[in-house]
Amino acid sequence: MNADTSIRRLTPRVVGKIAAGEVVERPASVVKELVENSLDAGAEQVNIEIGGGGLEFIRVSDNGCGVAVGELSLAFERYATSKLSSEADLERVSTLGFRGEALPSIAAVAEVEMSSRPPDVAGGAFVRLEEGVVVEEGAKGMPSGTSVLVRHLFRRQPARLKFLRSSAAEAAQIAAVVSHYALAYPEVRFSLVTDGRLTLHTPGGGQLADAAAGVYGHKVAASFLSVSPEPEGPLDSESPAGKVSVIGLIAAPPLSRANRNYISIFVNRRWIRNRSLTYAVEEAYRGLLTTGRYPIAIVDIRIPPADVDVNVHPAKTEVRLRREREVFSIVQRRIRSVLSLHSPVPDLSASAWGSVATVTRGSALIDGGKRQEPAVQPVLVPRSESAPLPSLSLSEQASPRQLPVLRALGQVGTTYVVAEGPEGLYLVDQHAAHERILFERFLAQHDASSVEQQALLEPVPVDLSPRQQALVEEMTVALVEQGFSLEPFGERTYLVRAVPAVLGEKDIAQAMLKFLDLMERENGISDHRERVAISLACHSAIRAGQTLIPEEMRELLRQLEETQMPRTCPHGRPTMIHLSADALAREFRRR
Ligand code: ADP
Ligand code: MG
Repeated sequence: MNADTSIRRLTPRVVGKIAAGEVVERPASVVKELVENSLDAGAEQVNIEIGGGGLEFIRVSDNGCGVAVGELSLAFERYATSKLSSEADLERVSTLGFRGEALPSIAAVAEVEMSSRPPDVAGGAFVRLEEGVVVEEGAKGMPSGTSVLVRHLFRRQPARLKFLRSSAAEAAQIAAVVSHYALAYPEVRFSLVTDGRLTLHTPGGGQLADAAAGVYGHKVAASFLSVSPEPEGPLDSESPAGKVSVIGLIAAPPLSRANRNYISIFVNRRWIRNRSLTYAVEEAYRGLLTTGRYPIAIVDIRIPPADVDVNVHPAKTEVRLRREREVFSIVQRRIRSVLSLHSPVPDLSASAWGSVATVTRGSALIDGGKRQEPAVQPVLVPRSESAPLPSLSLSEQASPRQLPVLRALGQVGTTYVVAEGPEGLYLVDQHAAHERILFERFLAQHDASSVEQQALLEPVPVDLSPRQQALVEEMTVALVEQGFSLEPFGERTYLVRAVPAVLGEKDIAQAMLKFLDLMERENGISDHRERVAISLACHSAIRAGQTLIPEEMRELLRQLEETQMPRTCPHGRPTMIHLSADALAREFRRR
């Protein structure tokens, strides 16, 4: 917020520099603009009320700085703003709004009443507009702050109404907008009332975890890991992107969603749409979530304002970053490092053992939005709250080893290896664990020379379906890297001249078809090398039902310890579950 809150008309020269276009597309755009104004006014509390998906009415009230006496109608003039005065200001916009266009644009397509009172002024004032024209103005008693009521949106624009969806769908979009701002501004109390029902509220108070609990519920919030800005680390000094830091909360796998809508990206607390940064977040979760699942993440990227151009899109939801690629990799690395430090072992006690939840070393419990101190003791929590418990502070648990040393005790159901570690009992899924080991090994191989290849004395002909043929052609480079040598031979037939040694079964044609079948199923993975590596790992890993001798179990655990992400298979399923010593003691009522 600027110190000077008086509203001025921008000069034509500055106006000419502003990205032009439609501001009010749908009810949610109105809510977005009004909430942004409240936040720019320094409000500590923003209440939003809507009826009929926002088409009947939208009311946004705040306790911010208010509009100076006599300036209410000026606020509805195009390009009148208190946030920008010179052209140079455009280079370093620090408020959410700056164009002076939202209020006039809204007033052009709805009936609007705005009332406002600055805190140091005795009485408030109001102004009412129809079709963009002031029809009534006067004094009004009210608490300090501003309230804007927007009614009958698009009533006179039937063509616009046609493009809207059901009022429930529009209400959902509004809830999404409010959620985003509630997450970006945890120090602000938000409430959203939809058709008379309180649908969302956050406590204010500044804790992102509390805001996240208000938006996503306590259960989801409890599985969030926090991403805190790195102190003056090598990352900052190395990077020409200047001071870029990443702040946020990210859900620990396997908690995930079926679409990308739960990845919220902010730049300097402005919610933006950015495919590349969204993708950076997805990439950080690579191998930790099953195919078709997406992370829940709230990621605020702090960049010096001079490195961000917000004047790209009329609705300001797109920004241009001066060094997007560096920012991309910083975001990805930062999130990846938080995930790889955490990479939780699902706790037996949380799922199978009902009411007992253990808190592993260095983790903290969020319970009902309250943050408690790190605990080592098992904690009795109600079943619904016994979701995997997060570690809020990563520095507390920065252990270089990602898996403790495990000692194999035996096998259960010829499927799980039972192991003992310093923190209790572990059940390791032998197939998933081996998949992880092989996957990382295959990915590390960059060319056929480092691969153990099995050349065939006689080339083996394999008949492929058109789909398999297309797949082989598309993936040729990655296949060759892993040691395959194939060549077309006639219309549907391929000659297999060599295969990776791990594929080495008696019936090469059969193994080849099985492998291709697996690869077809991994169609959610766009990276060719990963897709081949995952399929090959899945194909070659020891299976459930296979008896292992003690040396094999020991070797499996030892190799698993050496992987980078030992706790999940490449599809994101857990490789192990853990029953802590504490939980055991509790189950046996030893304490
Ligand atoms: P912009 O936000 O780009 O300046 P708007 O049309 O959204 O343009 O608002 C015009 C002006 O009205 C703002 O610059 C601000 O001075 C004033 N204003 C709007 N909403 C509020 C509010 N909730 N509290 C205080 N002032 C406001
Ligand atoms: Mg504005």
